[in-house]
Amino acid sequence: MNATPRILVLNADYQPINVTSFQKGYKLVWKGKAEVVKEDPKDVIMTSRSIARPKVIRLLTYLYLPYRRLNLSKQNVYRRDGFKCVYCGSGANLTLDHVLPRSRGGDNSWENLVTCCRKCNAKKDDQTPEEARMRMRHKPFVPTFSHLIEVEELEYSVTVPS
Ligand SMILES: [Zn+2]
Repeated sequence: MNATPRILVLNADYQPINVTSFQKGYKLVWKGKAEVVKEDPKDVIMTSRSIARPKVIRLLTYLYLPYRRLNLSKQNVYRRDGFKCVYCGSGANLTLDHVLPRSRGGDNSWENLVTCCRKCNAKKDDQTPEEARMRMRHKPFVPTFSHLIEVEELEYSVTVPS
């Protein structure tokens, strides 16, 4: 989905922390703050010597992240739902749908927001999925960090001490 090479950063206990740019990730390795866990042997960086491009790195010092939270954002809802309309599965003309419409007290929450194409959004209008007789491919849920990492890069970053 993204052509720019990215690196998955693991904490010292191997829990995923973040997906970062190649430049930032490689700098951590180069500075001795992280080790390469997995590399792509087919992808070689040409410098003064050839080195395989790291794909996964692990911080050597445990990073305590007490306030790690996922932003509730349009992009992160799309990511959770795999960039597909939860009603018809289309990936075109996406927008957000309030499962319980806002006009009827529906809030902005992970449990009430789903990825929806404009066509289904118009069809559903001010109704609940049941009233509109539209089946959801999955129920909206609060995604975990690892879930979004699997889907794609995250829309927030963690500051790694320099
Ligand atoms: Zn749809």
